[in-house]
Amino acid sequence: MIKQRETMDICGAEFEVRTRDREVISVKSDSNFGSIDLVEGIVYLNGTMSKPIRDNTLIHEWLHGVGQTYGVDFPEIHICAIASELYRKGFRIETKRVTMPPKASGRNRRS
Ligand SMILES: [Zn+2]
Repeated sequence: MIKQRETMDICGAEFEVRTRDREVISVKSDSNFGSIDLVEGIVYLNGTMSKPIRDNTLIHEWLHGVGQTYGVDFPEIHICAIASELYRKGFRIETKRVTMPPKASGRNRRS
């Protein structure tokens, strides 16, 4: 089966954007709006958010990814403020839909 997934770029690296149909449950979650897993390269979003909140959250998680990539531990309030102001000024994170080829084996996720 051919699957499509949504991706975004963070510092030149492709991250998968996974939208869940429920709250994002994670230790690293941002109040159940979203979270980022830099190791796995995945941004998780709460699928129940409105588009404006989703767009703001994408900027928020992107900022976390940029900071972590460069080894800068931005305080959460800085991330919130910068993301909100970038959103207000019209900044948006571009995402892409990419088609994934079928996997050779359904059991090995890291092949
Ligand atoms: Zn955050």
